[in-house]
Amino acid sequence: MQLTVNPAQRYAKMRAHTATHLLHAQLTKYFPNTKQAGSLVDSDMLRFDFYADTLLTPTQLHEIEIQINQQIYEALPVTLIETSLEEATTLGAKAFFEEKYGETVRVIRVLKGDDVISAELCGGTHVNNTKEIGAFSILSQEAVASGIKRLTAYTGPRVIEKMFTLETILDQQVEQFAIKSYTQINEKTAKFLKEYHEMKTKLERLESQLIIQTLQSLSKKTNADFELILEVPNTINFKSLATLAKTTFPTYATLLLYTNEGNYLILTSGQVSAKSLAQKYGRKGGGNEVVAQGKDEKVISVFL
Ligand SMILES: [Zn+2]
Repeated sequence: MQLTVNPAQRYAKMRAHTATHLLHAQLTKYFPNTKQAGSLVDSDMLRFDFYADTLLTPTQLHEIEIQINQQIYEALPVTLIETSLEEATTLGAKAFFEEKYGETVRVIRVLKGDDVISAELCGGTHVNNTKEIGAFSILSQEAVASGIKRLTAYTGPRVIEKMFTLETILDQQVEQFAIKSYTQINEKTAKFLKEYHEMKTKLERLESQLIIQTLQSLSKKTNADFELILEVPNTINFKSLATLAKTTFPTYATLLLYTNEGNYLILTSGQVSAKSLAQKYGRKGGGNEVVAQGKDEKVISVFL
């Protein structure tokens, strides 16, 4: 079997690899003692794991993107020197001490005049100039293990692809919101969210009022155990029923509300246990001293 390396793919990996070095250098600005915990270089995609206790803020991520893209536009030379490990260390090259190095090591440096932007001991292949990376964009940040964070980023054409994907999403939003430009999306979303919360509050209030009115209009029954028995419509929201029934009928010490589908709710003032009342009738369901609730199709015949 013969191994062939697609030249375009190889170049795409070189772009991602050099960008990894630039990213590593940027990260030391925020975490001076950070070290590489893992690295994956793929076609115009890189994943970099590093030691850090906190995640980078969105502003810091943005700063890193700006800095690296700036270094790309500045067209900085990427140089390779072969030297001794000792000499490399005095050059300030980042080395991975868990790795074994030979007599001579390769140091990849990105220089800006006399300034060393990045210096790393590295056996990989790189572009000759940062401008060849084309563009750099962070895709995601995540915590992968205790004290280890992961950044995934794109280089070259994949950055443009990402922009196209985002543009498509934005175009769809512009159409949905019937606005002129994506710059109005935030404003429009905030407006919709505000309206949504206002309507939700309004709706909840109206629903409560409706339940109270319904409860008041129902015909009242009673038996030996319950001062008040009400058959409530199946459409009623049982979630908020307990609170509303107590507000509507504060003077009754023992209340039973049920639907013809078998949902039941027992409310007591505490002198009689709601749970034991439910058990007396053989009902299944959860409960405590003041509330018992459950569902049983046979409930109507048993209770009445
Ligand atoms: Zn490298």
